[in-house]
Amino acid sequence: MSFTKIKNELNTEDTKVLIDSIINVDKKAAFVIDRENFEVLYMNDNAEKIFHATVGTPCYEIFCEKDHACIDCPMMKMTGEIIIQHRHSSAIDAIGKWKFSPIRWFDNKDAILVTLLEIVGVFGYEDDNTAAKLYSGNVERQNDALTGILNYSKFCASAENAIRYNKDKNYAIVTFDIDKFKSINDQYGMSVGDMILKHIANALKAFFEYDENYARLHSDVFAFYMEYEKRGDIIRAIEKVRRHIANSDLNIDIKTSFGIYLVEDRHVPINLMCDRAKMAALTIKKNVMKFCAFYDEQYHENMVKERGIEHDMNRALQNHEFKMYLQPKYNLENGNMCGAEVLSRWQHPEKGLIPPLDYIPLFEENGFIIKLDEYMWEQACKTIRAWLDSGIEPVPLSVNISRYHIQHNDLPAVFEHLMKQYNLTSDMLTLEITESMFMNSPAKLADVLNTLKDRGFKLEVDDFGSGFSSLSMIRHIAVDTIKMDKDFLDQEISSEKGKIVVSHTISMAKDLQLQVVAEGVETGEHVEFLKQSHCDIAQGYYFAKPMALDEFEKYLQKK
Ligand code: C2E
Ligand code: CA
Ligand code: CA
Repeated sequence: MSFTKIKNELNTEDTKVLIDSIINVDKKAAFVIDRENFEVLYMNDNAEKIFHATVGTPCYEIFCEKDHACIDCPMMKMTGEIIIQHRHSSAIDAIGKWKFSPIRWFDNKDAILVTLLEIVGVFGYEDDNTAAKLYSGNVERQNDALTGILNYSKFCASAENAIRYNKDKNYAIVTFDIDKFKSINDQYGMSVGDMILKHIANALKAFFEYDENYARLHSDVFAFYMEYEKRGDIIRAIEKVRRHIANSDLNIDIKTSFGIYLVEDRHVPINLMCDRAKMAALTIKKNVMKFCAFYDEQYHENMVKERGIEHDMNRALQNHEFKMYLQPKYNLENGNMCGAEVLSRWQHPEKGLIPPLDYIPLFEENGFIIKLDEYMWEQACKTIRAWLDSGIEPVPLSVNISRYHIQHNDLPAVFEHLMKQYNLTSDMLTLEITESMFMNSPAKLADVLNTLKDRGFKLEVDDFGSGFSSLSMIRHIAVDTIKMDKDFLDQEISSEKGKIVVSHTISMAKDLQLQVVAEGVETGEHVEFLKQSHCDIAQGYYFAKPMALDEFEKYLQKK
């Protein structure tokens, strides 16, 4: 008899009893997990007792303490038995022997029956019996052994009680940890580390009226929950806790980062709320000016989106999903096309065409920009070589160079290699470097740019006027061209005084022997003004949008 049939004939309660009686037979913890979205569809009593999870929660939150599925989740691929590390109850990491059996769930859902057969090891516990006790779900829920305050599971239970049963009150979950706690341990020894943890527990004790409100979750991570009316109430509480923490005889500067989760949906499991608060705290780790941050949904969405992009980027490069678009540049004096800028677009198989601003900033953070830029530069060189080979007179192409390369790449060597590989001369490439590059590491930058210039590449300062650089800053550096930022142009030429600023900037640049390009040229009025100001080159929608190679070649042949 199929499950669907059983479901039709029995009510939900009966169905649960029936499934329980089948799956609970040998008293192992068992879950049924949806293979598509990783959600727990069912779990037996033993699983509930050990993992404190609820149906509907994704398994990666329960077993891996993550907010997204692992790329290679063994659950979804495996059949048979496997030993893996997982997150156990009371925030303990354990190694368990799991069994995976693909099954069909109700409505013909593709699911997997996951059974924990045995715990083989537990991290951080010397007592051999702990594993067995854990497995039977019988570890007595004690307070944190080191500090005496609540531990993770007790905290979850306490917070859940308060939050679920006082629906008229607003609650926040706050977590915090000690910055560089590991180095403190390394430098001063574990016993000092322990003293700091105890000191923090005492600071919490001094601040809170009730012991139920705060806990040590694990290692150096603490949490508390509190009622609030305004966000300011939470910040004030944090400031007080920090003051209590600072007030110590330990002679060590204890810095802490706090993350705040405002409880809106009271059904979100408390451990997930803690995770979200922790995530918020991570956002300020590198910012010495901030000691706390709120978790917000937007941040979470962005992170999920970014994870998706990071997951796909290597495949995308291999599958040639990044496309070269070209936007023509025009000589304002004679109206001829005199070059083109190479801009990337990501032709994603599911998400469609993704614009660069959705992935370039992320790639600049994770370093992938090196691979993408080198790929685009190579596409540019390949294209010029193909034009030369087929008798088309080429125009120089400008490529974008992210600032990341200055510290992390050997630009002269990369371009030298490309020139050799495609048998090109360096005057065919213009290198666009953003204005913001001039702010950091000026000595190193000047060195790299001078070398490139000596080898014959044209250098163009992109987004000129968008930041703080001025002609006097760049006059010592070997650049040939400035490219005026679109916003600079827009803002300035909307007023008479602004027009004077732009035309004087252009004439000063020309006095310094710099060529001037205007980008984002959208209207005839723009063009007229730029011509009057003796700007050399213009690029923008007025002339042409960035386009794919085949379309660009039609423009090129008409040139
Ligand atoms: P950018 O280097 O300043 O490039 C010019 C941007 O202005 C392009 O946006 C272009 O499509 C847009 N644009 C051109 N004409 C007009 C106009 O008349 N009006 C308006 N409103 N916009 C115009 P896009 O292609 O979205 O690229 C955005 C930025 O992403 C680029 O700014 C560049 O900094 C970066 N980027 C794009 N591809 C790459 C790449 O392969 N590597 C690196 N490092 N950066 C890239
Ligand atoms: Ca550019
Ligand atoms: Ca630009």
